[in-house]
Amino acid sequence: MNNQHCVFCGTDGVNGFCDDSAKDYSSYRCHNCGNYRTKPFVSTDNFLADLPLSAHIIAGYLYETNRGKEDFIVVNADFCEQAEYAGKIPKTAMQQCEKLLINLYTCNESEGIFRLVKNSQFPEVSIRFASMAYCKSNELWVLHHLITLLNDTGYISVSNDTYQKTYTTTTSNGQRVLPGFNTEFRLTAKGYERAEQLLSTNIDSKNVFVAMWFDKTETDAAWEAISNAVRQCGFEPFRVDKHEHNNYICDEIISGIKQSKFVIADLTGYRGGVYWEAGYAKGLGREVILTCRKDWCNGEAKDNKRIHFDLEQIVRIEWTPDKLDEFESSLKSRMIATVDGAKLTD
Ligand SMILES: [Zn+2]
Repeated sequence: MNNQHCVFCGTDGVNGFCDDSAKDYSSYRCHNCGNYRTKPFVSTDNFLADLPLSAHIIAGYLYETNRGKEDFIVVNADFCEQAEYAGKIPKTAMQQCEKLLINLYTCNESEGIFRLVKNSQFPEVSIRFASMAYCKSNELWVLHHLITLLNDTGYISVSNDTYQKTYTTTTSNGQRVLPGFNTEFRLTAKGYERAEQLLSTNIDSKNVFVAMWFDKTETDAAWEAISNAVRQCGFEPFRVDKHEHNNYICDEIISGIKQSKFVIADLTGYRGGVYWEAGYAKGLGREVILTCRKDWCNGEAKDNKRIHFDLEQIVRIEWTPDKLDEFESSLKSRMIATVDGAKLTD
Protein backbone atom coordinates (compact mmCIF):
# COMPACT_ATOMS: atom_id res chain seq x y z
CA MET A 1 0.00 0.00 0.00
CA ASN A 2 2.17 2.84 -1.26
CA ASN A 3 1.42 6.44 -2.13
CA GLN A 4 -1.03 7.07 0.65
CA HIS A 5 -1.55 10.36 2.44
CA CYS A 6 0.15 10.68 5.81
CA VAL A 7 -2.70 10.95 8.29
CA PHE A 8 -0.73 13.50 10.35
CA CYS A 9 1.23 15.78 8.02
CA GLY A 10 -0.81 15.14 4.86
CA THR A 11 2.12 14.43 2.56
CA ASP A 12 1.69 12.03 -0.34
CA GLY A 13 3.84 9.03 -1.14
CA VAL A 14 3.65 7.49 2.30
CA ASN A 15 4.54 3.85 2.40
CA GLY A 16 2.05 1.94 4.54
CA PHE A 17 2.04 -1.77 5.33
CA CYS A 18 1.16 -4.39 7.92
CA ASP A 19 4.10 -6.36 9.19
CA ASP A 20 4.22 -9.60 11.18
CA SER A 21 5.92 -8.10 14.20
CA ALA A 22 2.97 -5.78 14.82
CA LYS A 23 -0.13 -7.53 13.55
CA ASP A 24 -2.47 -5.25 15.44
CA TYR A 25 -0.97 -2.18 13.85
CA SER A 26 -0.46 -0.62 10.47
CA SER A 27 3.03 0.74 9.89
CA TYR A 28 3.93 3.77 7.84
CA ARG A 29 7.05 5.45 6.56
CA CYS A 30 6.66 9.20 6.06
CA HIS A 31 9.43 11.57 4.88
CA ASN A 32 8.40 14.16 7.44
CA CYS A 33 7.06 12.15 10.37
CA GLY A 34 9.46 9.21 10.19
CA ASN A 35 8.35 5.64 10.90
CA TYR A 36 5.19 5.22 12.91
CA ARG A 37 2.45 2.71 13.70
CA THR A 38 -1.22 3.21 14.35
CA LYS A 39 -4.13 0.93 15.11
CA PRO A 40 -5.88 0.18 11.80
CA PHE A 41 -8.68 2.67 11.21
CA VAL A 42 -11.51 2.94 8.71
CA SER A 43 -12.07 6.68 8.77
CA THR A 44 -9.27 9.23 9.16
CA ASP A 45 -11.63 11.71 10.80
CA ASN A 46 -12.77 9.23 13.43
CA PHE A 47 -9.22 8.11 14.13
CA LEU A 48 -8.00 11.67 14.62
CA ALA A 49 -11.03 12.58 16.74
CA ASP A 50 -10.03 9.85 19.21
CA LEU A 51 -6.58 11.38 19.76
CA PRO A 52 -6.15 14.22 22.27
CA LEU A 53 -3.87 16.25 19.96
CA SER A 54 -4.58 17.66 16.49
CA ALA A 55 -3.01 16.00 13.46
CA HIS A 56 -0.71 18.96 12.69
CA ILE A 57 0.58 19.08 16.30
CA ILE A 58 1.36 15.36 16.15
CA ALA A 59 3.06 15.93 12.77
CA GLY A 60 5.21 18.69 14.27
CA TYR A 61 6.18 16.57 17.24
CA LEU A 62 6.97 13.56 15.03
CA TYR A 63 9.09 15.77 12.77
CA GLU A 64 11.01 17.04 15.76
CA THR A 65 11.51 13.76 17.63
CA ASN A 66 10.99 10.85 15.25
CA ARG A 67 12.16 11.79 11.77
CA GLY A 68 15.12 9.78 10.55
CA LYS A 69 14.82 7.09 13.24
CA GLU A 70 14.70 3.41 12.29
CA ASP A 71 12.22 2.18 14.92
CA PHE A 72 8.48 2.53 14.43
CA ILE A 73 6.85 4.60 17.16
CA VAL A 74 3.23 3.87 18.12
CA VAL A 75 1.03 6.94 17.83
CA ASN A 76 -1.90 6.62 20.22
CA ALA A 77 -3.40 8.53 23.17
CA ASP A 78 -0.40 7.64 25.41
CA PHE A 79 1.97 9.01 22.81
CA CYS A 80 0.00 12.28 22.73
CA GLU A 81 0.15 12.57 26.51
CA GLN A 82 3.91 12.07 26.50
CA ALA A 83 4.24 14.62 23.69
CA GLU A 84 2.31 17.17 25.73
CA TYR A 85 4.32 16.47 28.82
CA ALA A 86 7.65 16.79 26.96
CA GLY A 87 7.06 20.56 26.79
CA LYS A 88 8.10 20.85 23.15
CA ILE A 89 4.77 21.86 21.64
CA PRO A 90 4.76 25.60 20.90
CA LYS A 91 1.83 27.53 22.39
CA THR A 92 2.27 30.98 20.83
CA ALA A 93 3.13 32.38 17.40
CA MET A 94 6.60 33.43 18.57
CA GLN A 95 7.24 29.95 19.95
CA GLN A 96 6.21 28.54 16.56
CA CYS A 97 8.63 30.97 14.91
CA GLU A 98 11.46 29.73 17.09
CA LYS A 99 10.61 26.09 16.33
CA LEU A 100 10.75 26.93 12.65
CA LEU A 101 14.07 28.72 13.10
CA ILE A 102 15.65 25.79 14.97
CA ASN A 103 14.33 23.25 12.48
CA LEU A 104 15.56 25.28 9.51
CA TYR A 105 18.93 25.58 11.22
CA THR A 106 19.20 21.83 11.82
CA CYS A 107 17.75 20.46 8.58
CA ASN A 108 20.90 20.99 6.45
CA GLU A 109 18.99 21.24 3.22
CA SER A 110 18.72 23.65 0.33
CA GLU A 111 22.24 25.07 0.82
CA GLY A 112 20.87 27.74 3.07
CA ILE A 113 18.20 29.03 0.69
CA PHE A 114 14.63 27.95 1.46
CA ARG A 115 11.58 28.29 -0.71
CA LEU A 116 8.04 28.15 0.51
CA VAL A 117 5.93 27.47 -2.53
CA LYS A 118 2.21 27.02 -2.40
CA ASN A 119 1.12 25.39 -5.58
CA SER A 120 0.34 21.89 -6.69
CA GLN A 121 3.87 21.22 -7.95
CA PHE A 122 5.84 21.33 -4.73
CA PRO A 123 3.45 20.36 -1.97
CA GLU A 124 5.87 18.09 -0.09
CA VAL A 125 8.43 20.85 0.50
CA SER A 126 5.84 23.22 1.92
CA ILE A 127 4.36 20.46 4.07
CA ARG A 128 7.80 19.88 5.57
CA PHE A 129 8.02 23.57 6.53
CA ALA A 130 4.54 23.27 8.04
CA SER A 131 5.68 20.34 10.22
CA MET A 132 8.77 22.32 11.26
CA ALA A 133 6.51 25.06 12.66
CA TYR A 134 3.61 22.89 13.93
CA CYS A 135 1.31 24.47 11.30
CA LYS A 136 -1.54 22.92 9.38
CA SER A 137 -0.30 21.94 5.94
CA ASN A 138 -3.57 22.99 4.33
CA GLU A 139 -3.32 26.47 5.83
CA LEU A 140 0.05 27.58 4.52
CA TRP A 141 -0.86 31.24 4.91
CA VAL A 142 -0.25 30.72 8.66
CA LEU A 143 3.23 29.45 7.86
CA HIS A 144 3.75 32.40 5.52
CA HIS A 145 2.77 34.70 8.37
CA LEU A 146 5.38 33.10 10.67
CA ILE A 147 8.02 33.61 7.99
CA THR A 148 7.04 37.28 7.81
CA LEU A 149 7.39 37.54 11.60
CA LEU A 150 10.86 35.94 11.47
CA ASN A 151 11.77 38.43 8.76
CA ASP A 152 10.50 41.30 10.96
CA THR A 153 12.69 40.13 13.86
CA GLY A 154 15.71 39.89 11.56
CA TYR A 155 16.29 36.17 12.03
CA ILE A 156 15.64 35.41 8.38
CA SER A 157 15.86 37.51 5.28
CA VAL A 158 13.15 37.17 2.65
CA SER A 159 14.63 37.89 -0.77
CA ASN A 160 11.68 37.10 -2.97
CA ASP A 161 8.11 37.12 -1.84
CA THR A 162 5.31 36.94 -4.35
CA TYR A 163 2.50 36.36 -1.94
CA GLN A 164 -0.60 36.51 -4.02
CA LYS A 165 -3.82 34.79 -4.69
CA THR A 166 -2.61 33.63 -8.07
CA TYR A 167 0.76 32.29 -9.03
CA THR A 168 2.07 31.78 -12.59
CA THR A 169 4.28 28.81 -13.24
CA THR A 170 5.71 27.10 -16.30
CA THR A 171 4.86 23.44 -16.71
CA SER A 172 5.23 21.00 -19.59
CA ASN A 173 1.83 22.20 -20.73
CA GLY A 174 2.93 25.83 -20.85
CA GLN A 175 2.15 28.61 -18.41
CA ARG A 176 -0.36 27.89 -15.69
CA VAL A 177 -1.88 30.18 -13.14
CA LEU A 178 -2.23 28.60 -9.72
CA PRO A 179 -3.31 29.96 -6.39
CA GLY A 180 -0.45 30.49 -3.98
CA PHE A 181 2.84 32.19 -3.28
CA ASN A 182 6.53 31.78 -3.81
CA THR A 183 8.68 32.94 -0.95
CA GLU A 184 12.45 32.62 -0.88
CA PHE A 185 14.42 33.23 2.29
CA ARG A 186 17.61 32.45 4.17
CA LEU A 187 18.73 32.53 7.77
CA THR A 188 20.65 35.66 8.70
CA ALA A 189 23.74 35.74 10.94
CA LYS A 190 21.42 36.88 13.74
CA GLY A 191 19.15 33.89 12.97
CA TYR A 192 22.05 31.42 13.18
CA GLU A 193 23.14 32.99 16.45
CA ARG A 194 19.60 32.80 17.87
CA ALA A 195 19.15 29.17 16.76
CA GLU A 196 22.45 28.19 18.40
CA GLN A 197 21.46 30.03 21.56
CA LEU A 198 18.10 28.26 21.67
CA LEU A 199 19.69 24.87 21.07
CA SER A 200 22.46 25.24 23.61
CA THR A 201 20.66 26.71 26.61
CA ASN A 202 17.00 25.89 26.21
CA ILE A 203 16.54 29.56 26.84
CA ASP A 204 12.77 29.59 26.58
CA SER A 205 11.98 26.42 28.46
CA LYS A 206 9.69 26.77 31.45
CA ASN A 207 10.75 23.43 32.92
CA VAL A 208 12.92 23.12 35.98
CA PHE A 209 14.45 19.74 36.66
CA VAL A 210 14.49 18.94 40.38
CA ALA A 211 17.11 16.36 41.34
CA MET A 212 16.57 14.98 44.82
CA TRP A 213 16.30 11.96 47.07
CA PHE A 214 12.85 10.43 46.67
CA ASP A 215 11.96 9.73 50.26
CA LYS A 216 8.62 10.37 51.93
CA THR A 217 9.89 11.16 55.39
CA GLU A 218 13.20 12.85 54.55
CA THR A 219 12.50 15.13 51.60
CA ASP A 220 8.79 15.32 50.73
CA ALA A 221 8.31 18.54 52.72
CA ALA A 222 11.22 20.13 50.87
CA TRP A 223 9.71 19.09 47.54
CA GLU A 224 6.58 21.05 48.45
CA ALA A 225 8.63 24.16 49.21
CA ILE A 226 10.76 23.77 46.06
CA SER A 227 7.78 23.26 43.76
CA ASN A 228 5.94 26.24 45.29
CA ALA A 229 8.96 28.50 44.83
CA VAL A 230 9.53 27.32 41.25
CA ARG A 231 5.88 27.90 40.28
CA GLN A 232 5.82 31.32 41.91
CA CYS A 233 8.80 32.32 39.75
CA GLY A 234 6.92 31.36 36.59
CA PHE A 235 8.36 27.89 35.96
CA GLU A 236 7.14 24.31 36.13
CA PRO A 237 8.98 21.84 38.39
CA PHE A 238 9.75 18.38 37.10
CA ARG A 239 10.73 15.45 39.31
CA VAL A 240 11.16 12.10 37.55
CA ASP A 241 9.21 9.93 39.99
CA LYS A 242 6.20 12.26 39.78
CA HIS A 243 5.60 11.30 36.17
CA GLU A 244 4.35 8.06 34.70
CA HIS A 245 6.33 7.05 31.66
CA ASN A 246 7.22 4.04 29.56
CA ASN A 247 10.84 4.93 28.94
CA TYR A 248 13.80 3.80 30.98
CA ILE A 249 14.23 6.09 33.93
CA CYS A 250 17.70 7.12 32.82
CA ASP A 251 16.40 8.26 29.41
CA GLU A 252 13.68 10.17 31.22
CA ILE A 253 16.26 11.90 33.43
CA ILE A 254 18.49 12.83 30.50
CA SER A 255 15.62 14.20 28.46
CA GLY A 256 14.19 15.98 31.53
CA ILE A 257 17.50 17.77 32.13
CA LYS A 258 17.95 18.58 28.44
CA GLN A 259 14.50 20.13 28.28
CA SER A 260 14.95 22.13 31.44
CA LYS A 261 15.98 25.75 31.70
CA PHE A 262 17.86 25.16 34.94
CA VAL A 263 18.20 22.54 37.66
CA ILE A 264 17.66 22.49 41.40
CA ALA A 265 19.69 19.73 43.07
CA ASP A 266 18.97 18.88 46.70
CA LEU A 267 21.97 17.08 48.17
CA THR A 268 20.14 15.70 51.23
CA GLY A 269 21.06 12.04 51.62
CA TYR A 270 24.19 12.34 49.43
CA ARG A 271 22.53 10.38 46.63
CA GLY A 272 24.86 9.45 43.79
CA GLY A 273 22.10 10.06 41.26
CA VAL A 274 21.61 13.64 42.43
CA TYR A 275 25.35 14.39 42.13
CA TRP A 276 25.33 12.84 38.65
CA GLU A 277 22.31 14.88 37.54
CA ALA A 278 23.82 18.12 38.88
CA GLY A 279 27.07 17.42 37.03
CA TYR A 280 25.31 16.48 33.80
CA ALA A 281 23.24 19.68 33.94
CA LYS A 282 26.35 21.78 34.60
CA GLY A 283 28.05 20.12 31.62
CA LEU A 284 25.13 21.16 29.43
CA GLY A 285 25.59 24.74 30.57
CA ARG A 286 22.51 24.83 32.82
CA GLU A 287 22.41 26.91 35.97
CA VAL A 288 22.38 24.54 38.97
CA ILE A 289 21.00 25.73 42.31
CA LEU A 290 22.14 23.53 45.20
CA THR A 291 20.09 22.95 48.33
CA CYS A 292 20.53 20.61 51.29
CA ARG A 293 18.90 19.86 54.63
CA LYS A 294 21.08 21.46 57.29
CA ASP A 295 21.84 18.29 59.27
CA TRP A 296 23.14 16.66 56.09
CA CYS A 297 25.50 19.61 55.58
CA ASN A 298 27.20 19.61 58.95
CA GLY A 299 27.55 15.87 59.50
CA GLU A 300 24.82 15.53 62.15
CA ALA A 301 22.50 13.36 60.05
CA LYS A 302 24.75 10.41 59.36
CA ASP A 303 28.14 9.26 60.70
CA ASN A 304 29.59 12.75 60.56
CA LYS A 305 29.49 12.54 56.76
CA ARG A 306 29.51 15.76 54.76
CA ILE A 307 28.79 16.94 51.25
CA HIS A 308 31.41 15.76 48.78
CA PHE A 309 34.25 18.29 48.62
CA ASP A 310 33.62 19.04 44.91
CA LEU A 311 30.24 20.54 45.78
CA GLU A 312 31.04 21.56 49.38
CA GLN A 313 32.66 24.79 48.20
CA ILE A 314 29.70 25.86 46.03
CA VAL A 315 27.17 28.18 47.66
CA ARG A 316 24.00 26.31 48.60
CA ILE A 317 20.73 27.01 50.34
CA GLU A 318 20.36 25.06 53.57
CA TRP A 319 16.95 24.20 54.96
CA THR A 320 15.40 22.76 58.12
CA PRO A 321 12.02 20.98 58.24
CA ASP A 322 10.63 23.52 60.76
CA LYS A 323 11.49 26.57 58.62
CA LEU A 324 10.33 25.63 55.16
CA ASP A 325 8.81 29.09 54.59
CA GLU A 326 12.26 30.61 54.91
CA PHE A 327 13.65 28.00 52.54
CA GLU A 328 10.96 28.77 49.98
CA SER A 329 11.64 32.48 50.09
CA SER A 330 15.48 32.04 49.88
CA LEU A 331 15.00 29.82 46.88
CA LYS A 332 12.79 32.39 45.17
CA SER A 333 15.37 35.13 45.79
CA ARG A 334 18.13 32.91 44.40
CA MET A 335 16.13 32.13 41.25
CA ILE A 336 15.33 35.78 40.65
CA ALA A 337 18.99 36.70 41.13
CA THR A 338 20.55 33.97 38.99
CA VAL A 339 18.03 32.75 36.40
CA ASP A 340 17.29 34.83 33.36
CA GLY A 341 13.54 35.46 33.09
CA ALA A 342 12.67 34.42 36.67
CA LYS A 343 10.16 36.79 38.20
CA LEU A 344 7.42 36.53 40.78
CA THR A 345 4.03 35.72 39.28
CA ASP A 346 0.79 36.99 40.79
ZN1 LIG B 1 3.72 12.55 7.88
